Amino acid sequence: MTLCPCASGQAYADCCARPHGGEAAATALALMRSRYCAYVLGAGRLSAGYLAPVDAAAGAASGR
Ligand SMILES: [Zn+2]
Repeated sequence: MTLCPCASGQAYADCCARPHGGEAAATALALMRSRYCAYVLGAGRLSAGYLAPVDAAAGAASGR
């Protein structure tokens, strides 16, 4: 297995692969990890269209 670059200690497939594939992240922390992970994996290879809705979801998850 490949450990996730976000240092969660989980396999990538069980961690950031889910939000990267369009699935909603379970927690705000998972969102932050997935964004860091996306940066490590591709340094922006994932489109801005991915990052924008994550910002909206992070705001909602923080209770605003
Ligand atoms: Zn991860």
